[in-house]
Parts: sequence; C-alpha cells; structure tokens
Amino acid sequence: MTSSLALPTLTIDLQAVRDNYRLLQRRAGKAKCAAVLKANAYGLGADAIAPALVQEGCRHFFVAHIDEGVRLRKVVPRDAEIYVLHGVPSIQSLEFVQHQLIPVLNSLEQIKTWRIISDKLDVRLPAAIQFDSGMSRMGLSTGEVRYLKRNEHLLNSFNVALVMTHLACAEQQQHAMNEQQLESFRASRALFPRVSASIANSSGIFLGEDYQFDLVRPGAALYGIAPLEGEENPLKQAVFLAAPIIQTRKIANGGYVGYGVRHQADREQVIATLGIGYADGWPRAAERRTHAFLGGRAAPLVGAISMDSVTVDVSSIEGPQLKPGDTMDLICRYQTVDDLARATGTIGYEILTRLGNRLQRIYLDKSLESKK
Ligand SMILES: *Cc1c(COP(=O)(O)O)cnc(C)c1O
Repeated sequence: MTSSLALPTLTIDLQAVRDNYRLLQRRAGKAKCAAVLKANAYGLGADAIAPALVQEGCRHFFVAHIDEGVRLRKVVPRDAEIYVLHGVPSIQSLEFVQHQLIPVLNSLEQIKTWRIISDKLDVRLPAAIQFDSGMSRMGLSTGEVRYLKRNEHLLNSFNVALVMTHLACAEQQQHAMNEQQLESFRASRALFPRVSASIANSSGIFLGEDYQFDLVRPGAALYGIAPLEGEENPLKQAVFLAAPIIQTRKIANGGYVGYGVRHQADREQVIATLGIGYADGWPRAAERRTHAFLGGRAAPLVGAISMDSVTVDVSSIEGPQLKPGDTMDLICRYQTVDDLARATGTIGYEILTRLGNRLQRIYLDKSLESKK
C-alpha cells in the first residue's frame, strides 16, 4: 500500500447517511423511502452507500444510467427495485432484463420500446412512467398522457409499477410552481388510479403530506445537503474533506502568492501549501472565498487555486509550528458543502459530484473503519 499521508482525504460518514435515511423515512409518513444513487451516489460511492441503506430497510433505488444500475445490482438484494431514470434507449437494451432493472419511461417512443421488449420475451416486465408536470425536462406531456389513456392497449404488454414526476422548485417552499406541479400530477395520475405514485425529491418530502404519495425519492438530503432554502438543516453532515500540508514558508510584507500574483502580503505572512486543488473538486471560483481549518481555527485561502494545490495564510493560527504532513480541514462543521456551494455560486449537488477520483475515500460506519 502506498502511504496515504500526502493524499487529500474525503471521509464519508455512513452512520450519518443511515441517520439521514431514517429521518427522511420518518418525515415521509406512510410513503416508502427510496434512495437516489445516480452519479455514483453523488460522487460519494454507491458501492458503500447502497449496502448501508439496505441495512436500514431501503428497497427502492434510482440511478440515471443503465450502467449505474448494472453496478448497483451487484450490491443490493434481489428484492430491491432499481429504477433507471433515463429509461430504455433501444429494443436491444436487454440489460434491464438480465440485471432486473426497471426503466422510467419518459416518452411514447420509450413506451413502445418497452412494449416490444416485453412482447418479444412474453413477460409483463415492470416499468415506471414519468409525467412532465411543468419542468419540461423528462416525461410525457399532459396531452401524451391523455393519448395513452385513450389507447390503453399500448400499456397492456407490461406492468406499470409506478407513475412519477419531478419538482422544479421544491427547495423553495412558497414557490407557486410546487402546487401547479402537484395539480398537474394529480390530473395525470387519476388515469392510473391503482398504480403507486411518486413526486418528492429530498426537498419535496418537506413540502408536506400532499407531496408524499407512495414513494419519496431523496438524494441530496441523504448526503447532508440542506433541503430547504433559508431554513435550518435537519440532516447530519456526512461529508468531510481534509488535505495535507506539503510545505510552509514565511513571506515578507509585499510578497506575492500564486498564479497571476493576485495575492500580495500586507505584512509578513506564513503560507501553507495544501495538496489539493481544482482537479480534486475544490472550485477555482473559491479564490478569496473559503478557509482551511485547524482544530476549528480558520485560515483564509489566499491566491489562485491551482490544479493540485492551494495556498493558505496560516499566520494567525500558529503557522510557524505547522509541519508538512499535518492536515487541515476544508469541508468540516465550520465550512459545509452548502457553505462552499454558496461561496462559489453553485449548489451542494455540484460540489459533491465534482469531488475528484484522486481523493482517498474513507468510509466511517459506527466504530468500524474501512479504506477504499
Ligand atoms: C436527482 C433526482 C432525484 C433526487 O433529487 P434530490 O434533490 O437530490 O433529492 C429525485 N428524482 C429525480 C427524477 C431525480 O432526477
């Protein structure tokens, strides 16, 4: 094994993910609680997260791509349902059958494709159908839903296991779009009265009982992202990032730091260089907007973010005592994923999914600790 000393480290607290799942399950009332594990569980590692959620009773999973579903199937039990959000691309897509995946059918073409596969195999294969309730991203228009209802034979070959839609503005509780989408979904759903229904993502769960239906589909909240704008976050922090000091140096008053020499010291300063950069997902836009932490004491990042390193003014936190190999915290209780997102003009989802492959990932689960 190579030394891990010099690697920036992403720690994923699986116990926090489990606790978040349980909280969401409670908030979801009578609805079942799925887990959205697309993009490798938002970059955190679906292979580790899925089994933890299975232990908490989760049996419904959503991914975006077929390949993600194939991989997920290897780590969840046979009775777990895996939905593929992008649906079925062609009549050659037999992975759905081989790996027991359920497509989310988003168009009349996909419905036709699934019908052909089901007929050919002479099995009533399960599928979800997505309605577009106003976001204009994926799913059948209301006109197409009515067309389907007039031509019900189009659905005879397979088993509609779930009808669903997706909310565009759920993190803004007061947004008028929420109710509009709810009304649209109810109208479409009325044509499928006996089929399970699902509308809520993480934020949707917190819009109340009307939005919970039979199944809720949180992703971000499992990983600790705040579900509601401007409200306290009820979820536990699950993601922590730390990076090692490569070297420290004293610079004189007037000395420059980094590409473009955009930082100039206005007094003698101690600069620590950390082994993490934008290639690891620390946004280049974080220049002048974020801190590194040592035992809770903040030191500002100064100068440009490089590909593999950042520079920190540690003058005020006993910089001279710091040594190469010491680590500083970048995502921690004092600077969360949401804080970093706000500072850099993006959302926590993007921060998480861009955390790089070069980061050493460590999974904590109760007192057990395993390295990947
Ligand atoms: C990504 C996604 C989710 C999960 O959304 P979060 O906001 O992360 O909870 C749910 N449903 C669909 C269709 C999605 O694309």
